[in-house]
Amino acid sequence: MTVTAPTIGVLALQGDVREHLAALRASGADPVQVRRPEELAAVDGLVIPGGESTTISKLAVTFGLMEPLRERVSRGMPAYGSCAGMIMLADKILDPRSGQETVGGIDMIVRRNAFGRQNESFEAAVDMPAVPGGPVEGVFIRAPWVESTGAAAETLASYDGHPVAVRQRHLLATAFHPELTGDQRVHALFTEMVRSAH
Ligand code: GLN
Repeated sequence: MTVTAPTIGVLALQGDVREHLAALRASGADPVQVRRPEELAAVDGLVIPGGESTTISKLAVTFGLMEPLRERVSRGMPAYGSCAGMIMLADKILDPRSGQETVGGIDMIVRRNAFGRQNESFEAAVDMPAVPGGPVEGVFIRAPWVESTGAAAETLASYDGHPVAVRQRHLLATAFHPELTGDQRVHALFTEMVRSAH
């Protein structure tokens, strides 16, 4: 049996796009950059990278992508957001900058820059049983945490008492950056979600 590689887009407005493209390629997907609505229409799934969620939000509106993103996510397109991408997939931000919008889809409230100044960037082993093979190395960079989740959102991992990886049906979000570690297991989980959504 031939298993074709799903086409997975990486939202390429701002942030660590290249690293996600590489991690997706290594996990068996066919990754492409997405900057325009026509490009979004052509993908089977989408990664929203880490970066700065206020900037990604503004650029998504400017590029005419915010509504198409909401539409595709609400119709079941699998999406994975890391860090700023997690914020973009949250239904609600506790402390948004003025005018900051999200795509939404995951019934959760996130707190931006939650780990505080003393702890802006750190690495920690994170237990994430949905990913086989032991803890994931979590790289946290001015990361959000999840303040609360609704009934449909499943917490896949917590750190310091707060959810840092969440899945809701076809949507996945992590507060940390697996694309920076060379460990493709989280991307492999997402690639599998995209395959099985077909
Ligand atoms: N603090 C950033 C934000 O609010 C997220 C940081 C990141 O993606 N590494 O968007």
